[in-house]
Amino acid sequence: MKEIKGYADPNNLLNPGVIINEHADAHIRHLKKLPTVESEVDTCIECGFCEHKCPSRHLTLTPRKRIVVRRALKSLQHEGEGKLHKELLQQYQYDGLDTCAVDGLCATACPVDIDTGKLVKRLRSEKHSAFGNGVAKWIARNFSFILSLVKFALRTGNFLNRIFGKKFMFRFTKMIRKIIPAFPLWSNHLHAAPSIKKLQRLHKDKSPHSIVYIPACINRLMGEAKSSQHVSKHFSEVALKSGIKLYIPADIAGSCCGQIFSSKGYKGAYNFKVNQFIEKLWTWSGEGERPVVIDFSSCVYTVLQSPGTLTDENRERLKNMQILETVQFIKYHILPIAPTIEKKKRNCCASGLFDGKNEYAIDTRGCSWRFCRGSSDPCKCGMLWNGR
Ligand code: SF4
Ligand code: SF4
Repeated sequence: MKEIKGYADPNNLLNPGVIINEHADAHIRHLKKLPTVESEVDTCIECGFCEHKCPSRHLTLTPRKRIVVRRALKSLQHEGEGKLHKELLQQYQYDGLDTCAVDGLCATACPVDIDTGKLVKRLRSEKHSAFGNGVAKWIARNFSFILSLVKFALRTGNFLNRIFGKKFMFRFTKMIRKIIPAFPLWSNHLHAAPSIKKLQRLHKDKSPHSIVYIPACINRLMGEAKSSQHVSKHFSEVALKSGIKLYIPADIAGSCCGQIFSSKGYKGAYNFKVNQFIEKLWTWSGEGERPVVIDFSSCVYTVLQSPGTLTDENRERLKNMQILETVQFIKYHILPIAPTIEKKKRNCCASGLFDGKNEYAIDTRGCSWRFCRGSSDPCKCGMLWNGR
Protein backbone atom coordinates (compact mmCIF):
# COMPACT_ATOMS: atom_id res chain seq x y z
CA MET A 1 0.00 0.00 0.00
CA LYS A 2 2.86 2.33 0.86
CA GLU A 3 4.45 1.67 -2.52
CA ILE A 4 1.21 2.33 -4.43
CA LYS A 5 0.69 5.57 -2.46
CA GLY A 6 4.30 6.51 -3.30
CA TYR A 7 3.59 6.19 -7.04
CA ALA A 8 0.38 8.17 -6.85
CA ASP A 9 1.70 10.85 -4.50
CA PRO A 10 5.51 10.98 -4.71
CA ASN A 11 5.76 14.15 -2.64
CA ASN A 12 3.48 12.77 0.08
CA LEU A 13 1.07 15.66 -0.20
CA LEU A 14 -2.20 13.77 0.18
CA ASN A 15 -3.14 13.21 3.81
CA PRO A 16 0.42 12.62 4.99
CA GLY A 17 0.48 10.23 7.91
CA VAL A 18 -3.23 9.50 7.74
CA ILE A 19 -4.28 5.82 7.35
CA ILE A 20 -1.02 4.88 5.63
CA ASN A 21 1.58 5.71 8.19
CA GLU A 22 5.06 4.35 8.74
CA HIS A 23 5.05 4.94 12.49
CA ALA A 24 3.75 2.13 14.64
CA ASP A 25 3.10 4.62 17.45
CA ALA A 26 1.20 7.10 15.23
CA HIS A 27 -1.76 6.97 17.61
CA ILE A 28 0.23 8.71 20.33
CA ARG A 29 2.24 11.11 18.21
CA HIS A 30 1.45 14.81 17.77
CA LEU A 31 -1.07 14.86 20.56
CA LYS A 32 -2.23 18.28 21.64
CA LYS A 33 -0.40 19.37 24.77
CA LEU A 34 -2.64 19.92 27.76
CA PRO A 35 -0.21 20.69 30.58
CA THR A 36 -1.60 20.92 34.08
CA VAL A 37 -1.95 24.59 34.93
CA GLU A 38 -4.53 25.57 37.55
CA SER A 39 -7.03 23.35 39.34
CA GLU A 40 -9.91 25.70 38.40
CA VAL A 41 -9.46 25.02 34.66
CA ASP A 42 -7.48 21.79 34.29
CA THR A 43 -10.53 19.80 33.18
CA CYS A 44 -11.10 22.09 30.20
CA ILE A 45 -11.39 20.14 26.96
CA GLU A 46 -11.22 23.28 24.83
CA CYS A 47 -14.61 22.57 23.27
CA GLY A 48 -15.50 26.27 23.05
CA PHE A 49 -19.10 25.95 24.26
CA CYS A 50 -18.47 28.80 26.68
CA GLU A 51 -17.25 31.29 24.10
CA HIS A 52 -20.55 32.84 23.01
CA LYS A 53 -21.42 33.65 26.62
CA CYS A 54 -18.37 35.77 27.33
CA PRO A 55 -18.85 39.55 27.30
CA SER A 56 -15.19 40.09 26.45
CA ARG A 57 -15.21 37.80 23.41
CA HIS A 58 -15.19 40.68 20.90
CA LEU A 59 -12.73 42.77 22.88
CA THR A 60 -9.94 40.41 23.88
CA LEU A 61 -10.19 36.72 24.80
CA THR A 62 -12.90 34.14 25.35
CA PRO A 63 -12.80 31.84 28.41
CA ARG A 64 -11.39 29.00 26.27
CA LYS A 65 -8.64 31.26 24.95
CA ARG A 66 -7.85 32.44 28.47
CA ILE A 67 -7.26 28.81 29.44
CA VAL A 68 -5.35 27.99 26.24
CA VAL A 69 -2.96 30.87 26.91
CA ARG A 70 -2.38 29.63 30.50
CA ARG A 71 -1.42 26.27 28.99
CA ALA A 72 0.79 27.91 26.38
CA LEU A 73 2.54 29.86 29.14
CA LYS A 74 3.22 26.63 31.04
CA SER A 75 4.57 24.93 27.89
CA LEU A 76 6.88 27.85 27.18
CA GLN A 77 8.15 27.65 30.73
CA HIS A 78 8.86 23.90 30.36
CA GLU A 79 10.64 24.49 27.07
CA GLY A 80 12.85 27.20 28.58
CA GLU A 81 11.47 29.90 26.25
CA GLY A 82 11.94 32.64 28.84
CA LYS A 83 11.67 35.61 26.47
CA LEU A 84 8.49 34.43 24.77
CA HIS A 85 7.03 33.48 28.13
CA LYS A 86 7.65 36.96 29.49
CA GLU A 87 6.15 38.61 26.43
CA LEU A 88 3.03 36.47 26.49
CA LEU A 89 2.62 36.96 30.24
CA GLN A 90 2.72 40.72 29.77
CA GLN A 91 0.05 40.57 27.07
CA TYR A 92 -2.07 38.28 29.24
CA GLN A 93 -2.40 40.97 31.90
CA TYR A 94 -4.81 43.04 29.81
CA ASP A 95 -6.21 40.45 27.43
CA GLY A 96 -6.64 37.68 29.98
CA LEU A 97 -7.01 39.31 33.38
CA ASP A 98 -7.99 42.98 33.17
CA THR A 99 -10.79 42.48 30.66
CA CYS A 100 -12.49 39.50 32.31
CA ALA A 101 -15.73 40.64 33.91
CA VAL A 102 -15.55 37.70 36.38
CA ASP A 103 -19.29 37.30 35.99
CA GLY A 104 -19.10 33.50 35.72
CA LEU A 105 -21.32 33.40 32.62
CA CYS A 106 -18.89 30.94 31.04
CA ALA A 107 -19.79 28.38 33.70
CA THR A 108 -23.42 28.39 32.60
CA ALA A 109 -22.45 26.85 29.24
CA CYS A 110 -19.49 24.69 30.22
CA PRO A 111 -20.06 20.92 30.20
CA VAL A 112 -17.56 20.51 33.04
CA ASP A 113 -18.70 23.57 35.05
CA ILE A 114 -15.57 25.64 34.64
CA ASP A 115 -15.91 29.24 35.81
CA THR A 116 -12.88 30.96 34.31
CA GLY A 117 -13.77 34.02 36.35
CA LYS A 118 -12.80 32.14 39.52
CA LEU A 119 -9.31 31.59 38.15
CA VAL A 120 -9.06 35.25 37.13
CA LYS A 121 -10.15 36.36 40.60
CA ARG A 122 -7.49 34.20 42.23
CA LEU A 123 -4.77 35.41 39.86
CA ARG A 124 -5.76 39.02 40.55
CA SER A 125 -5.77 38.35 44.25
CA GLU A 126 -2.25 36.85 44.15
CA LYS A 127 -0.92 40.02 42.55
CA HIS A 128 -2.11 42.32 45.32
CA SER A 129 0.48 43.58 47.77
CA ALA A 130 -0.18 43.90 51.50
CA PHE A 131 -0.39 47.66 50.93
CA GLY A 132 -3.01 47.24 48.16
CA ASN A 133 -5.07 44.94 50.37
CA GLY A 134 -4.79 47.46 53.20
CA VAL A 135 -6.05 50.28 50.99
CA ALA A 136 -8.97 48.11 49.81
CA LYS A 137 -9.89 47.36 53.42
CA TRP A 138 -9.76 51.03 54.30
CA ILE A 139 -12.07 51.81 51.38
CA ALA A 140 -14.45 49.04 52.48
CA ARG A 141 -14.57 50.46 56.01
CA ASN A 142 -15.13 54.01 54.75
CA PHE A 143 -17.37 53.15 51.85
CA SER A 144 -19.96 55.80 52.58
CA PHE A 145 -17.30 58.52 52.41
CA ILE A 146 -15.86 57.06 49.18
CA LEU A 147 -19.29 56.95 47.54
CA SER A 148 -19.90 60.60 48.45
CA LEU A 149 -16.51 61.50 47.04
CA VAL A 150 -17.15 59.74 43.73
CA LYS A 151 -20.61 61.26 43.51
CA PHE A 152 -19.11 64.69 44.09
CA ALA A 153 -16.54 64.00 41.33
CA LEU A 154 -19.33 62.98 38.91
CA ARG A 155 -21.30 66.12 39.67
CA THR A 156 -18.19 68.29 39.31
CA GLY A 157 -17.27 66.62 36.00
CA ASN A 158 -20.72 67.26 34.56
CA PHE A 159 -20.65 70.82 35.84
CA LEU A 160 -17.26 71.48 34.19
CA ASN A 161 -18.54 69.96 30.95
CA ARG A 162 -21.47 72.35 31.00
CA ILE A 163 -19.11 75.31 31.45
CA PHE A 164 -16.21 74.38 29.14
CA GLY A 165 -17.94 72.22 26.56
CA LYS A 166 -19.02 68.61 26.51
CA LYS A 167 -15.61 67.24 25.50
CA PHE A 168 -13.74 68.97 28.31
CA MET A 169 -13.75 66.15 30.87
CA PHE A 170 -12.90 63.54 28.25
CA ARG A 171 -9.85 65.54 27.14
CA PHE A 172 -8.88 66.36 30.71
CA THR A 173 -8.96 62.73 31.92
CA LYS A 174 -7.20 61.61 28.74
CA MET A 175 -4.37 64.00 29.60
CA ILE A 176 -4.15 62.64 33.16
CA ARG A 177 -4.03 59.10 31.80
CA LYS A 178 -0.78 59.94 30.03
CA ILE A 179 0.77 60.35 33.47
CA ILE A 180 -1.36 57.83 35.39
CA PRO A 181 -2.45 55.10 32.91
CA ALA A 182 -4.94 53.57 35.38
CA PHE A 183 -6.87 56.84 35.75
CA PRO A 184 -10.47 56.39 34.60
CA LEU A 185 -11.44 57.98 31.30
CA TRP A 186 -14.47 60.24 31.44
CA SER A 187 -17.60 59.32 29.52
CA ASN A 188 -20.50 61.68 28.99
CA HIS A 189 -22.83 58.86 29.98
CA LEU A 190 -21.64 59.27 33.57
CA HIS A 191 -24.10 61.03 35.84
CA ALA A 192 -24.44 61.14 39.61
CA ALA A 193 -27.63 59.43 40.75
CA PRO A 194 -30.24 61.61 42.43
CA SER A 195 -30.53 61.40 46.19
CA ILE A 196 -32.88 58.73 47.56
CA LYS A 197 -33.64 60.67 50.75
CA LYS A 198 -37.13 61.59 49.53
CA LEU A 199 -37.89 57.96 48.77
CA GLN A 200 -36.55 56.94 52.17
CA ARG A 201 -39.00 59.33 53.81
CA LEU A 202 -41.83 58.00 51.64
CA HIS A 203 -41.14 54.30 52.22
CA LYS A 204 -40.51 53.65 55.88
CA ASP A 205 -43.14 51.06 56.63
CA LYS A 206 -41.60 48.42 58.88
CA SER A 207 -44.74 46.35 59.30
CA PRO A 208 -44.39 42.58 58.80
CA HIS A 209 -46.14 42.85 55.40
CA SER A 210 -43.74 45.37 53.97
CA ILE A 211 -40.82 44.55 51.70
CA VAL A 212 -37.33 45.85 52.30
CA TYR A 213 -36.10 47.63 49.20
CA ILE A 214 -32.33 48.10 48.88
CA PRO A 215 -31.16 50.36 46.07
CA ALA A 216 -27.75 48.85 45.23
CA CYS A 217 -24.72 51.07 45.84
CA ILE A 218 -24.11 51.44 42.10
CA ASN A 219 -27.67 52.71 41.63
CA ARG A 220 -27.27 55.08 44.56
CA LEU A 221 -24.06 56.35 43.01
CA MET A 222 -24.79 56.77 39.31
CA GLY A 223 -27.51 56.44 36.73
CA GLU A 224 -30.07 58.70 35.15
CA ALA A 225 -29.48 62.24 36.36
CA LYS A 226 -33.19 63.09 36.41
CA SER A 227 -34.84 61.63 39.48
CA SER A 228 -38.00 60.89 37.46
CA GLN A 229 -36.01 58.46 35.31
CA HIS A 230 -34.01 56.74 37.99
CA VAL A 231 -34.47 53.07 38.77
CA SER A 232 -35.37 53.71 42.43
CA LYS A 233 -38.09 56.12 41.37
CA HIS A 234 -39.61 53.51 39.05
CA PHE A 235 -39.40 50.91 41.76
CA SER A 236 -41.18 53.20 44.16
CA GLU A 237 -43.93 53.99 41.61
CA VAL A 238 -44.60 50.35 40.89
CA ALA A 239 -44.86 49.57 44.60
CA LEU A 240 -47.19 52.50 45.23
CA LYS A 241 -49.45 51.63 42.32
CA SER A 242 -49.54 47.99 43.35
CA GLY A 243 -50.31 48.84 46.96
CA ILE A 244 -47.10 47.19 48.17
CA LYS A 245 -45.55 48.63 51.30
CA LEU A 246 -41.85 49.28 51.04
CA TYR A 247 -39.21 49.94 53.62
CA ILE A 248 -36.04 51.70 52.46
CA PRO A 249 -33.69 51.77 55.46
CA ALA A 250 -32.58 55.22 56.57
CA ASP A 251 -29.03 54.00 57.35
CA ILE A 252 -28.38 52.52 53.92
CA ALA A 253 -25.40 54.79 53.08
CA GLY A 254 -22.18 52.81 52.74
CA SER A 255 -23.88 49.42 52.50
CA CYS A 256 -22.63 47.17 49.72
CA CYS A 257 -22.54 43.44 48.97
CA GLY A 258 -18.78 43.65 48.42
CA GLN A 259 -18.81 42.57 44.79
CA ILE A 260 -16.60 45.49 43.85
CA PHE A 261 -13.85 44.04 46.07
CA SER A 262 -14.52 40.38 45.30
CA SER A 263 -14.25 40.87 41.54
CA LYS A 264 -10.92 42.67 41.93
CA GLY A 265 -9.57 39.89 44.14
CA TYR A 266 -9.47 41.89 47.39
CA LYS A 267 -10.54 39.05 49.66
CA GLY A 268 -10.13 40.79 53.02
CA ALA A 269 -12.18 43.80 51.98
CA TYR A 270 -14.85 41.57 50.43
CA ASN A 271 -15.10 39.39 53.56
CA PHE A 272 -15.58 42.47 55.70
CA LYS A 273 -18.13 44.09 53.40
CA VAL A 274 -20.33 41.07 52.68
CA ASN A 275 -20.48 40.09 56.37
CA GLN A 276 -21.38 43.64 57.29
CA PHE A 277 -24.07 43.64 54.60
CA ILE A 278 -25.64 40.39 55.85
CA GLU A 279 -25.74 41.80 59.39
CA LYS A 280 -27.53 44.91 58.11
CA LEU A 281 -29.96 42.90 55.97
CA TRP A 282 -30.75 40.77 59.02
CA THR A 283 -31.69 43.84 61.02
CA TRP A 284 -33.55 45.58 58.16
CA SER A 285 -35.53 42.45 57.35
CA GLY A 286 -36.67 42.11 60.97
CA GLU A 287 -34.52 38.98 61.37
CA GLY A 288 -35.84 37.44 58.18
CA GLU A 289 -39.48 38.44 58.68
CA ARG A 290 -39.64 40.72 55.63
CA PRO A 291 -38.37 39.78 52.16
CA VAL A 292 -35.53 41.88 50.79
CA VAL A 293 -35.30 43.03 47.19
CA ILE A 294 -32.10 44.48 45.73
CA ASP A 295 -32.34 46.30 42.41
CA PHE A 296 -29.17 44.86 40.90
CA SER A 297 -29.07 41.18 39.92
CA SER A 298 -25.33 40.74 40.29
CA CYS A 299 -25.45 42.04 43.88
CA VAL A 300 -28.09 39.45 44.74
CA TYR A 301 -25.99 36.79 43.06
CA THR A 302 -22.92 37.88 45.03
CA VAL A 303 -24.84 37.67 48.30
CA LEU A 304 -26.26 34.25 47.47
CA GLN A 305 -22.80 32.98 46.51
CA SER A 306 -21.20 34.29 49.69
CA PRO A 307 -21.74 31.49 52.30
CA GLY A 308 -18.11 30.34 52.06
CA THR A 309 -17.01 33.82 53.12
CA LEU A 310 -19.53 34.35 55.90
CA THR A 311 -19.16 33.77 59.60
CA ASP A 312 -21.26 30.86 60.96
CA GLU A 313 -23.75 33.30 62.40
CA ASN A 314 -24.16 35.23 59.14
CA ARG A 315 -24.44 32.00 57.15
CA GLU A 316 -27.41 31.04 59.33
CA ARG A 317 -28.89 34.52 58.88
CA LEU A 318 -28.56 34.29 55.11
CA LYS A 319 -30.35 30.91 55.14
CA ASN A 320 -33.27 32.50 56.96
CA MET A 321 -33.73 35.50 54.70
CA GLN A 322 -35.54 35.78 51.40
CA ILE A 323 -33.39 37.91 49.08
CA LEU A 324 -34.84 38.68 45.67
CA GLU A 325 -33.75 40.49 42.58
CA THR A 326 -36.22 42.72 40.73
CA VAL A 327 -37.61 40.17 38.30
CA GLN A 328 -38.32 37.74 41.13
CA PHE A 329 -39.94 40.56 43.08
CA ILE A 330 -42.18 41.28 40.10
CA LYS A 331 -42.99 37.61 39.62
CA TYR A 332 -43.82 36.78 43.23
CA HIS A 333 -45.16 40.04 44.61
CA ILE A 334 -46.53 42.18 41.81
CA LEU A 335 -47.65 40.00 38.94
CA PRO A 336 -50.19 38.03 40.99
CA ILE A 337 -52.03 41.27 41.83
CA ALA A 338 -51.43 43.34 38.69
CA PRO A 339 -54.03 43.65 35.93
CA THR A 340 -52.94 42.17 32.63
CA ILE A 341 -53.74 44.03 29.44
CA GLU A 342 -51.72 42.11 26.92
CA LYS A 343 -50.08 38.71 26.92
CA LYS A 344 -47.62 37.81 24.21
CA LYS A 345 -45.02 35.43 25.37
CA ARG A 346 -41.33 35.34 24.71
CA ASN A 347 -38.15 34.67 26.60
CA CYS A 348 -36.13 37.73 27.54
CA CYS A 349 -32.48 37.94 28.37
CA ALA A 350 -31.95 39.17 31.94
CA SER A 351 -31.77 37.29 35.17
CA GLY A 352 -31.64 33.83 33.63
CA LEU A 353 -29.27 32.88 36.42
CA PHE A 354 -32.01 33.16 38.99
CA ASP A 355 -35.24 31.80 37.73
CA GLY A 356 -34.65 30.04 34.46
CA LYS A 357 -36.54 32.48 32.26
CA ASN A 358 -37.22 36.13 32.57
CA GLU A 359 -40.63 36.86 31.20
CA TYR A 360 -41.63 40.40 31.95
CA ALA A 361 -41.42 43.93 30.70
CA ILE A 362 -43.13 46.49 32.83
CA ASP A 363 -45.01 49.69 32.21
CA THR A 364 -44.88 51.61 35.45
CA ARG A 365 -47.12 54.47 34.34
CA GLY A 366 -50.23 52.37 33.94
CA CYS A 367 -49.04 49.68 36.29
CA SER A 368 -49.98 47.22 33.62
CA TRP A 369 -47.99 44.37 32.21
CA ARG A 370 -46.76 43.65 28.77
CA PHE A 371 -45.10 40.49 27.63
CA CYS A 372 -42.58 41.22 24.89
CA ARG A 373 -43.46 40.06 21.45
CA GLY A 374 -42.40 36.54 20.51
CA SER A 375 -39.01 36.57 18.82
CA SER A 376 -35.77 34.71 18.85
CA ASP A 377 -33.83 37.99 18.82
CA PRO A 378 -31.93 39.18 21.88
CA CYS A 379 -33.94 41.21 24.36
CA LYS A 380 -35.76 44.11 22.73
CA CYS A 381 -37.46 45.51 25.78
CA GLY A 382 -34.33 47.11 27.26
CA MET A 383 -33.29 46.85 30.86
CA LEU A 384 -36.10 46.23 33.21
CA TRP A 385 -37.08 49.43 35.01
CA ASN A 386 -35.17 51.52 32.54
CA GLY A 387 -36.49 54.98 32.01
CA ARG A 388 -38.39 55.82 28.88
S1 SF4 B 1 -16.93 25.18 27.77
FE1 SF4 B 1 -15.67 24.52 29.49
S2 SF4 B 1 -14.51 22.80 28.69
FE2 SF4 B 1 -15.34 23.88 26.90
S3 SF4 B 1 -13.73 25.38 26.32
FE3 SF4 B 1 -15.09 26.44 27.72
S4 SF4 B 1 -14.14 26.17 29.76
FE4 SF4 B 1 -13.24 24.62 28.39
S1 SF4 C 1 -16.05 35.20 33.87
FE1 SF4 C 1 -14.57 36.14 32.45
S2 SF4 C 1 -14.14 34.50 31.01
FE2 SF4 C 1 -16.05 33.90 32.06
S3 SF4 C 1 -17.70 34.72 30.76
FE3 SF4 C 1 -17.24 36.28 32.30
S4 SF4 C 1 -15.76 37.66 31.27
FE4 SF4 C 1 -15.79 35.74 30.11
